Amino acid sequence: MTTQTMEFQAETRQLLDLMIHSLYRHKEIFLRELISNASDALDKVRFEALTRPELLEGDDDLAIRLETDRDARTLTIADNGIGMSRDEVIENLGTIARSGTREFVAALKDAKEQATSAPELIGQFGVGFYSAFMVADRVTVETRRADLPAGEGVRWTSTGGGAFELETIERAPRGTRITLHLKERGEEGEEMPELTAEWALRGLVKKYSDFVQWPIRMDVEREEGEGDDKKTVVKTETLNSMKPLWTRTPSEVTDEEHAEFYKQLAHDWEPPGRTIHFRAEGTLEYTALLYVPSHRPLAFLEGDRGKSKLSLYVKRVFIMDDCDELLPPWLRFVRGLVDSSDLPLNVSRETLQHTRQMAPIRRRLVTKTLETFKKWLDDDRDAYAKTWGEFGPLIKEGMYGEDDETKFKIAEVCLFRSTRGDGLVTLDEVIEAMPDGQEEVYWLAGPDLDTLRRSPHLEAFAARGYEVLLLTDPVDEFAMQRLTEFDGKPLKAIDKGDVDLGDDEEKAARDEKAKELKPLLDAVKERLGEQVAEVRFSSRLKESPAVLVTGEQDLSPHMARLLRGMDREVPESKRILELNASHPLVKRLDALRDGSAGRFGDYCELLFGQAQLAEGTAPEDPQRFNRLLTSLMVGEDRPDDE
Ligand code: ADP
Repeated sequence: MTTQTMEFQAETRQLLDLMIHSLYRHKEIFLRELISNASDALDKVRFEALTRPELLEGDDDLAIRLETDRDARTLTIADNGIGMSRDEVIENLGTIARSGTREFVAALKDAKEQATSAPELIGQFGVGFYSAFMVADRVTVETRRADLPAGEGVRWTSTGGGAFELETIERAPRGTRITLHLKERGEEGEEMPELTAEWALRGLVKKYSDFVQWPIRMDVEREEGEGDDKKTVVKTETLNSMKPLWTRTPSEVTDEEHAEFYKQLAHDWEPPGRTIHFRAEGTLEYTALLYVPSHRPLAFLEGDRGKSKLSLYVKRVFIMDDCDELLPPWLRFVRGLVDSSDLPLNVSRETLQHTRQMAPIRRRLVTKTLETFKKWLDDDRDAYAKTWGEFGPLIKEGMYGEDDETKFKIAEVCLFRSTRGDGLVTLDEVIEAMPDGQEEVYWLAGPDLDTLRRSPHLEAFAARGYEVLLLTDPVDEFAMQRLTEFDGKPLKAIDKGDVDLGDDEEKAARDEKAKELKPLLDAVKERLGEQVAEVRFSSRLKESPAVLVTGEQDLSPHMARLLRGMDREVPESKRILELNASHPLVKRLDALRDGSAGRFGDYCELLFGQAQLAEGTAPEDPQRFNRLLTSLMVGEDRPDDE
């Protein structure tokens, strides 16, 4: 029969054009697409054969075959699946716009305009049959539908331009055979992936199609025998393992098998700390296999900020890695995958955002992970604490991005340093140990443990036997401010706002003193001027003469420093200077206040500088601070307000 030339449908033409002209990277994903189509075709013939067994007569070994010809530069993907009739070929490979084509073309065009993202985009899309034209300048499809006679085979050929050719052929084998005439170079002269070597195909199949449930076979050449008997023999090998670990019943997979699989997946040399493997059934069907590494990988967090490390599979076909929709950024150290049976194969990063199935999957994964942490903490505290040391700061990030329920679940598995000792404590333990009279959980954040342990803020708390959490991770303050309470107990930063520790009697005494020494407080304030918002007496201090406090709503100096370090704009906030009313220095200051001894101003400055040093902030003008101190040590006579 003669050859018939037909036009591609308009959108298909656009798609082809973009595919050929804008996509330079990830070209190799075409193989995943063609293998996945072949696998579907095998599924279909198996299904139809249930009622019509004659369809498989004489050829019931269902498989996908890869064939290469290095000299002719061709790669062939063949299957003995359902095949296509002439009408189906025209419909499927020419005229009907597949669902999603329009969106895909739009996304590609956008990406092309911002040239940078185009290459990134393609790897993530399910692009179907036409992706063959990324690597081939001519594609031939020979196919025969399983229920049609050999005389009704069809050959479809196209160079990816505006049209394709169609002819009826004699074709004995059932199914479809797609031959790609591989390009030497890309449209822009770029190099093409290696596609005829055994190692290359083996690698691509392993990467993208390892778990396709039909065998993907290829003839490979092997040397056999020794010396003169040495000869090259051709053997057929199956390139894929077919049996994905995660599709097995979770209780039947051994720890060793998980360890092997995880190591390969995460490029880790140690087994995972915890494995989470479950099958969700009901309205949403999927299998999740998650691993919590026991330690931080070497290249962790470099350049991959915020990316989830889970891969998405649809019916065992690899769709994408780093799938952000599966886990929030704070769990980005968790490795593994989700295999869904409900999603379409052509989901993309863009469409996933609007896919309603994703939110419940993500919620479930977060909950499962947190439950696993909790159990780990309860069962094997030491091992958990080690992992906490590696990933704790990330986990705490979750507190300010998640809903309240999740926030409290995260808080439950957090470990903290505290004034109790050198070990780590949970919030539950802190609350458990609260003495009578303590109603709040106290915390203090700062640059390092040593500075915190020496902080004057702790004095009154230590005197009362109140435990204070000591927080040194940059995220801590954000996390605690979002948490605000735990198990009904308010959380309170001890260096912020009012802390009222004393009983009524003490408070009355302090108020009395404040009244009596009001002129002193005013004079100190006047002397320090804009540096402080207020000068008052403190209930926090026992030994130290003074301490700086942050307003209830203000950023602590530690947090302000961190934010400035990240190039954020931080409003200046003034501190409150609190004095220890029972410290001898206060008496001395009051005596100096009239100015006759000429030292009042210096004392105020030094006191303020000391309070700054105690919280890990350097005085604004360290030279001046030192000069004042030296002059005081020498006992120099100096008029006030020099
Ligand atoms: P998708 O697979 O997403 O539908 P494709 O462009 O990859 O889109 O394929 C279009 C259609 O062509 C398929 O839905 C299928 O009906 C048909 N097809 C593709 N490859 C094969 C094959 N190897 N055997 C039988 N039919 C095929």
